[in-house]
Amino acid sequence: MKRALITGIFGQDGSYLTELLSAGGYQVHGTVRPHPSPQSQKLDQHLRKKGIAPIVHHCDLTSFEDVSLLIRTIEPDECYHLAAVHHSAQTLPIPLEYDRTLLEQNILSVLNLLHALQEGSPKTRFVLAGSCVMFEDCGISPQTETTPVRSTSAYGTSKIVGQQLTELFRTRHNLHASTAILYNHESPRRAAHFVSQKIVKGLVRVSRGETETVALGNLDDIKDWGFAGDYVRGMWLMAQADSPQDYILGTGIGHTVADFVKQAAELLELKDWRGVVTVQPGLTRPMTKTRLVGVPHRAQNSLGWRHSIDFRGLVELLVRHELENTLDGSA
Ligand code: NDP
Repeated sequence: MKRALITGIFGQDGSYLTELLSAGGYQVHGTVRPHPSPQSQKLDQHLRKKGIAPIVHHCDLTSFEDVSLLIRTIEPDECYHLAAVHHSAQTLPIPLEYDRTLLEQNILSVLNLLHALQEGSPKTRFVLAGSCVMFEDCGISPQTETTPVRSTSAYGTSKIVGQQLTELFRTRHNLHASTAILYNHESPRRAAHFVSQKIVKGLVRVSRGETETVALGNLDDIKDWGFAGDYVRGMWLMAQADSPQDYILGTGIGHTVADFVKQAAELLELKDWRGVVTVQPGLTRPMTKTRLVGVPHRAQNSLGWRHSIDFRGLVELLVRHELENTLDGSA
């Protein structure tokens, strides 16, 4: 039986990956923080209700001793590093202390895992969840794996450093280590503060007469939106590849936040979508200087990866599951 270790196991992606690997006969191990968020607790319970019970480890990923012990104990065949602090939960301006914590957590965790694998389990295949935000200031769109990275946010910087550490351990220390450069991917398991959930939850409430408006930030922001289940399958395919590589996982097509609202409103038969949206300056983030749209040709050609749900299908899926109040988004 193959063993897999997933950090951030009860996040959106961790929960889908746990389902995928469990169905594939893996023994699944995962790390959680000592005090997991309510969202993680919800997804933990959700999986358990479905009879999926991964082996959970409490681990401080910034402690090399903890990580090293974990790796030596499990000796996983595959390790997916999904745990990360991200900015979306924060209001602007972002305090320096928050950025510092984010950098420490996101960078040290990658270094500790790679180092521990090198010493204790060098045959493990490692996949890091990178991010399209690595390209946020690169000024080139769409992006491929060879587009130069450039970011001026702490989150983007932490993902760039993570990718470079992964490459270092791949080239200098011969680990099967790859970075998945992930574009936005959504599901009913996405936390409520993300814009996709704000739109869907808000418009469903409007359609039920429970509220009149939905407050959003930039309607012109463009994102390359996909379905989380497709992206975890992409990460799994990366771990199966003969040789490690970095891959873009995106749909190659961008849509504005306004497109998302319009699509969801149409599905809910709300005629005047502009009339129910209020743009709140407090929610408005500076637009990324670069249109973040990823060309997934390498993943398509080398891994046979395809996204199975397009933009319209994704919005439909989110609306349907919000109406039914379930977390089980699948195609
Ligand atoms: P989630 O926020 O749903 O899950 C993140 C997980 O990481 C949660 O289990 C969370 O635990 C855990 N975590 C957060 N901070 C820490 C920490 N300091 N130490 C240990 N665990 C921590 O994110 P997704 O599943 O959507 O994303 C997975 C990965 O993919 C992340 O690395 C993210 O940066 C990356 N990514 C995601 C994109 C997307 O569109 N979803 C796009 C680009 C990149 P808890 O709930 O307890 O906080």
